[in-house]
Amino acid sequence: MTAVTLPPYLLAPLRHALDGAVVAPDDPDYDDARRRWNAGIDRRPAVIACCTSTADVVAALAFAQERGLDIAVRGGGHNPAGTSINDGGLVVDLSRMNEVTVDPQAKRARVGGGALLGQLDAAAAAHGLATPAGTVSHTGVAGLTLGGGMGWLTRKFGLALDNLESVEIVLADGRVVRCSTEQEPDLFWAVRGAGTNFGVVTEFVFRLHELDPVVHFGFYFFALDERRDVLRRARELYAGLHPETTVFVVGLNAPPAPFVPPELHFSPGLAVLAVSFAGPELLTELTGRLRAGLAAPLAAMETPMPYVALQQLIDEPNAWGMHAYEKGTYLTSLSDTAIEAIAEHLPRKNSPLSHVILMPLDGGFCATADDATSFGGTRTPKLGAFIIDVAPTAELEQADRPWVRALWDTLQPDAPEEESSYVNGVADYDDARVRAIYGRKYDRLAELKARYDPQNTFHHNANIRPALPAAGTPNPPA
Ligand code: FAD
Repeated sequence: MTAVTLPPYLLAPLRHALDGAVVAPDDPDYDDARRRWNAGIDRRPAVIACCTSTADVVAALAFAQERGLDIAVRGGGHNPAGTSINDGGLVVDLSRMNEVTVDPQAKRARVGGGALLGQLDAAAAAHGLATPAGTVSHTGVAGLTLGGGMGWLTRKFGLALDNLESVEIVLADGRVVRCSTEQEPDLFWAVRGAGTNFGVVTEFVFRLHELDPVVHFGFYFFALDERRDVLRRARELYAGLHPETTVFVVGLNAPPAPFVPPELHFSPGLAVLAVSFAGPELLTELTGRLRAGLAAPLAAMETPMPYVALQQLIDEPNAWGMHAYEKGTYLTSLSDTAIEAIAEHLPRKNSPLSHVILMPLDGGFCATADDATSFGGTRTPKLGAFIIDVAPTAELEQADRPWVRALWDTLQPDAPEEESSYVNGVADYDDARVRAIYGRKYDRLAELKARYDPQNTFHHNANIRPALPAAGTPNPPA
C-alpha cells in the first residue's frame, strides 16, 4: 500500500506543537519508525508522532482528532498482531519516553510509557530489586503490563499488572489523569487487563520486591521421542512446585548453544527450563525429581546467573525481524489428552523456530482476587500454553498457521470453563474472541469504555466496544 502523504502545511501545526520528532513518509527515518517486531507487519501511517512528554501525547491526540485521523499507540512495538500501527493514520509513538527511575527506599519504580522490560529490570536490579515482567527484555512494558505480564517471577510476585500502584494516562478527550485504587478506581481497574482500550499511559508506577540478584537456572533438552514421558513428569512437578521455583516446558528445536552438541543443533525436541530464586539446592532437588526415571537429556546445563541475564536469556531467538503468529490458551492441567495433543502436534511444525511454551500460573498469580482487576482469566491455578509460529519468511510462517490453529483447537477441551486465553497471547482479535477473553468482566469494561472512550478512539487492540450509547448518539467507529 502507498502511504498517505499529508502536505507539509497540514503537518506544520504538529511539528510546531511537539517537542519530539514528527516522521512522515518522505522522511529518511520513516521506514525505521514504522518497523515492528513482527516482520509480517507492513503498514504505512500518514504520520508518526515521536512523543517525548505527556504534553506531546496530548498534542498528538488533539491533532489527529481534529483532522479525523485514525490513531494507533506504540509502546515497545512487539505485539505480533501489529496493533501499534495503522495505515494512513497517526501513530503516537512512545519509544522515546523510556525513562525508568527507582526509589530504593520506597521500593517503587516510575517507568515511561515507552520503556522496554530490560530497562525496568536493569534499573531495579541496581538496587537488588525486581518486579515481575515477561521473558524477553526487548518487549514493551506498556503493552505487556496493560494486558497482564507473565514471566519467570509470576509464581512469586504475580502478574506485572498486580504490581502496579498507579498510572498516568491521557484519555481520548485529552485529560491527563492519574489513577490508582484511590483515584479513579474504576479506570484503574479497567487499565489493569484491558488497558490498551482506555487511553495512552505515559507513566507506570510499579511496586518493587527484594530479589537475590543471582538465580539458579537449569536447561534440559530431551529427544522428541521422549516427549510424552517428559510431559507426564512435568505434570508431576507442576503439582508440587516450591514457591521459590518455576518450570517452563518448551517444545522447540535445540538452540545452537555451546552446551548443545553441534550435531543436535536445530533438532526437534522438548526442553525443560527450571529456575530457583532461593539457592542451588532447590534447583538440585527439582531437577532430581525431573530426571529420575527419565531417559537422560541430550543436552543439559545448570548455572547460577544474574536475574537480569535470565530476563535476557531468550532475547536472541526472539529477535526483531521474524514473521510471527500465535495463539494461546489456558489449560486446567496437563491432562492425558493435553499431553497427547501436544505430543501429536509437536513434530508437525514446519519452521524450526516455531515452538510451544507451557508456563505455570499459580502461587503469586492466585494471590490477587479475580475481580480486583480486569485481567482476562480467573486466578485459579492453571497453565498458560502459548503456541507460537515464528519463521524467517512469510511463506514459512503461513505454513505453520494451520499447525498453530490445529493444536489450539485440540487443546480446547482442557481449557478451563468460561475462560479462554490470555489477551497478550492472541494474534486474532475478533469480537467473539475478545468477549471470551474477558468473560463476565466484558460488560463492565464496555460500560467504562463508553464513559472514558465513547468514540472508540483506541481501537487497535483486543477491542472492547463501548456499551450502547443513549438513543440519538452516533455509533462509535468499529
Ligand atoms: P506494542 O506493539 O507497542 O503495543 C501493543 C498494544 O499496546 C497496542 O494495542 C498498543 O496500542 C498498546 N500500547 C502500547 N503502548 C501503550 C501505552 N503506553 N499506553 C496505552 N496503550 C499502549 N507477554 C507476557 O506476558 N510474557 C512474556 O514473556 C511475553 N513474551 C513475549 C515475547 C515476544 C517475542 C513477543 C513478541 C511477545 C511477548 N509477550 C509476552 C506478549 C506481549 O506482552 C505483547 O505482545 C504486548 O502487546 C507487547 O507490548 P509492546 O508495548 O511491546 O507492544
